[in-house]
Amino acid sequence: MKVCVIGAGVIGCATAYELARQGHDVHLLDAAQAPGLVTSYANGAQLSYSYVEPFASPATLRGLPKMLLSRGSAVRFHPRWDWRQWAWGLQFLRACSARQSLQGTAQLLQMARASRDALARWMAQEAWSFGFEVNGKLVLCPTPDSLRQQQRQVALQAALGCRQEVLSVRECLEKEPALQAAPGRPWAGGVWTRDECIGDPHRLCLDLVASLRQRGGTVSFGVLARAFARRAGRVSAVVTDQGDIAADAFVLAAGPRVVPLAAQLGIYLPIYPIKGYSITVPFRDGVQRPRASVTDLGRKAVFAPLGACLRVAAMAEVGATGLDVPADRVQTMVDAVAQTYPGLCDLNAPATWAGLRPATPTSVPIVGRWRASNVYLNVGHGALGLTLAAGSAVALSEQMQRAA
Ligand SMILES: Cc1cc2nc3c(=O)[nH]c(=O)nc-3n(C[C@H](O)[C@H](O)[C@H](O)COP(=O)(O)OP(=O)(O)OC[C@H]3O[C@@H](n4cnc5c(N)ncnc54)[C@H](O)[C@@H]3O)c2cc1C
Repeated sequence: MKVCVIGAGVIGCATAYELARQGHDVHLLDAAQAPGLVTSYANGAQLSYSYVEPFASPATLRGLPKMLLSRGSAVRFHPRWDWRQWAWGLQFLRACSARQSLQGTAQLLQMARASRDALARWMAQEAWSFGFEVNGKLVLCPTPDSLRQQQRQVALQAALGCRQEVLSVRECLEKEPALQAAPGRPWAGGVWTRDECIGDPHRLCLDLVASLRQRGGTVSFGVLARAFARRAGRVSAVVTDQGDIAADAFVLAAGPRVVPLAAQLGIYLPIYPIKGYSITVPFRDGVQRPRASVTDLGRKAVFAPLGACLRVAAMAEVGATGLDVPADRVQTMVDAVAQTYPGLCDLNAPATWAGLRPATPTSVPIVGRWRASNVYLNVGHGALGLTLAAGSAVALSEQMQRAA
């Protein structure tokens, strides 16, 4: 089949690569000038295979008033005159039930497991250099209450096959000695997952595209998909600002901007942007660098050691649409590094970034065929796109195989 994949973020790149592996004639296109320059550029870098709990949960619902009302909160809601926002919000509130949260956790764990296996298969055949490492992940809980909540999640996930340990503060420091210097060590304990991984998302996109090209795929950058042409009830071409691109099947992988594109085909997608930020700061010479990824639930921030730098990602703003990076958000992340790893990083000129997580109300992505058409969707990966990219790509490719 000739397949056109629209969007070269980590989801589109992974999908195009897997389809080429399966022998399809693939054309990957993107409006940007290179792969992985939008949401997949400088995210938290976590391949978070076991830490997948949906954002919508009973705990989120309970904490929502405090989260939304406290000044400087990591979670913000920007109300808009936009029916999509309110429809999404209502679906989100409905998804906060214990039943839906459990179902979402099970679905995401299964996708994450498939993703881990798929990425391992790919890496065994390719010489990629995206900084992949099995470094383990420590989730720090600020209060006894939050530790108990995590303990419940660990027990629940154990029944679904995850191996995680609940640790005291002393045991957390043994796992990650770089945290020893944090003043006051404001944690009640933590959860350790030995086999979590990290990788640079942008470099993974570059590796995927290089391997796609080696397998004969076509890649076009600076090409904006605008609409679709139809013939005999099927989509025959994507209409772009550079002309039409014909194919037998089309994959929409346009991340947070997929909604207007899908609307061209009459497809309503319950995807809404949740904005987040990151900074990347170099380690100082001669310091003891952290090895593990750390998620600090108190600060709602993740820290990932990526080679010579520390990546910090944080915050969730529902309804923020621009990619500006306000100075107060940067300062919060700089302070988080200074207080978690005092003296470890040069904080003078952090590289800053903002991205819009393409979120579904349940946090479960939409991967599959649109009705009986030749249009396929691989979208809505929210806070887990890097983690789920390989598994979603394989799942979609298998569906296409079955439909052919
Ligand atoms: C602060 C933050 C931290 C995060 N941390 C993590 C993490 O640690 N681990 C994890 O697994 N996930 C993380 N995520 C989530 C992850 O970054 C996203 O889920 C993922 O990048 C989404 O990838 P995508 O390919 O769907 O979208 P994108 O990367 O946005 O790619 C979509 C592409 O489509 C192109 N496009 C859009 N419309 C068109 C059009 N009409 N024509 C042509 N091209 C078009 C865009 O140019 C873009 O390149 C984080 C996200 C944020 C914001």
